[in-house]
Amino acid sequence: MKLRRDDNVLVTKGRDRGKHGRVTQTFPKEGKVLVEGVNVVMRHTKPTSTLRQAGIIQKEMPVPAANLVLVCTHCTKPARIDRRVLADGTKARVCNSCKEVIE
Ligand SMILES: [Zn+2]
Repeated sequence: MKLRRDDNVLVTKGRDRGKHGRVTQTFPKEGKVLVEGVNVVMRHTKPTSTLRQAGIIQKEMPVPAANLVLVCTHCTKPARIDRRVLADGTKARVCNSCKEVIE
């Protein structure tokens, strides 16, 4: 999977198309990620002895990584990503439009 935690992504498909957000969690097995403010659903919860308060809570649901593109931190465009091995042997993702390494 190309996305990592704390990546800035743009949603390209689905209900939240066009939204930007930060990746807060990844689920590599499912190919999904959790993005801040994206795919928020309302949950109506009843009070239980263990759980917080009742009422409507907002919850983010994982989004398929295929519906997201990484946004370059340098040129702020949705980036096409190249992978490159740096001089010290670490693998890096490189933005195809500005050629900067994306952290
Ligand atoms: Zn860039």
